[in-house]
Amino acid sequence: MKQNTLNFEKSIAVMERSRNVFPGGVNSPVRSFRSVGGTPIVFSHGNGKNLFDIDGNKYVDFCSSWGPLILGYSHPAVVNAMQEQLQKAVTFGAPSDLETRLAEKVQEWLPGIEMMRFVSSGTEATMSAVRAARAATKRNKFVKFEGCYHGHADQFLVKAGSGLATLGNTSSAGVPSGTIQDTLTAIYNSEESIREVFSLYGDDIAAVIIEPVAANMGLVLPKPGFLEFLRKVTKDNGTILIFDEVMTGFRLARGGCAEYFQVQPDLWTFGKIIGGGIPAAAYGGKREIMQMISPIGNAYQAGTLSGNPLAMVAGYSTLSEMEKQNAFQKLENLGKYLDNLVTKELTPAIEKSKVCFVRIASFFCFFFGTNKPPKNFEEVAATNMKIFNKIYHAWLQHGIYLGPSGYEVGFLSTCIEECDLDLLVNIIKQELNTEG
Ligand SMILES: *Cc1c(COP(=O)(O)O)cnc(C)c1O
Repeated sequence: MKQNTLNFEKSIAVMERSRNVFPGGVNSPVRSFRSVGGTPIVFSHGNGKNLFDIDGNKYVDFCSSWGPLILGYSHPAVVNAMQEQLQKAVTFGAPSDLETRLAEKVQEWLPGIEMMRFVSSGTEATMSAVRAARAATKRNKFVKFEGCYHGHADQFLVKAGSGLATLGNTSSAGVPSGTIQDTLTAIYNSEESIREVFSLYGDDIAAVIIEPVAANMGLVLPKPGFLEFLRKVTKDNGTILIFDEVMTGFRLARGGCAEYFQVQPDLWTFGKIIGGGIPAAAYGGKREIMQMISPIGNAYQAGTLSGNPLAMVAGYSTLSEMEKQNAFQKLENLGKYLDNLVTKELTPAIEKSKVCFVRIASFFCFFFGTNKPPKNFEEVAATNMKIFNKIYHAWLQHGIYLGPSGYEVGFLSTCIEECDLDLLVNIIKQELNTEG
């Protein structure tokens, strides 16, 4: 493989200006490359599986803008639908049939969504879902898992202490301790930590919120029976179970994690794919809980641009096109090809302890310095991020783009081809073999 050195001159120049106007030069922290080192790449456009930066470098995209672009960049069906809508109106601040049409499509894919509401970001969706759960149960506390990300609302910016299940300490400045006094944390995949938290606070736990497949701490799968266990404990305690499917919704399977694992939560949150790349998100589920929301209930929640027409059209055309393309089958075939590559090409060629590959549906993740799939945040944090960072830059040099952090997952889009996966894996093999 040739070791080219890309020119990032223009990206560097733009980032210098950006640092003057944005904290860290970015509008969302992980984009800053703090984690992997180096300067962020400044992009100009995308097309199908490819991304192009302002220096003219071309990449195969495994980031999918963190998930929404499951059909790749600028899919004609999505672009055309949006262009048509652009001529009509980009916002009403009043009802349009586009909202109802997308909600009904969501119900087709996930029949458990009896009622829902559109918002503009995943952060709003999780915040509002917890509010609905608190209103419905008249309880205050909720449980989240260490390493799960649910957006940046104050109450979620908590990580666990070293105890099994403990009252949280805030992990962000600017979050008053009062705001998080009702946030309880538990350890992912640990039934014991859930039992402990319920034995201490069971009567006052409004909700348990979980990423049923955790994709914000690398990729951590629920161990068999764990989601069923959560379903039972929450039911027994009158607690609402929330699946945060902002990342997994419309991607893990047609019906998301609920369908894949055959466990029905009471509430769901969605984002990313649901807006087809335009800001949109949603929360929904059982009718009796959603009826707590204003104007029919007393739990207030609103949004100037909620149900935005452009986003509704982008989301609807994305889901429709996925149906047309039989996207899930296509993505699973690519995933299986990647599994085989790893088993046949990568793992036999290198020392066993050096790499662990995890994949589910169109999510994948390589952990380095371990050969065991991590089952919670602590185990993810113990993997070798230095090696990830080295491989990350080798990927870039060979025209492969992933989210710039070892705590992020790789995403397959329907535009990815087998040769792209060959390159992805070959670079890892080459780098690990030259690893000292
Ligand atoms: C991305 C994400 C969020 C936050 O969504 P934003 O639109 O970035 O606010 C919440 N939960 C999960 C699981 C996510 O992956």
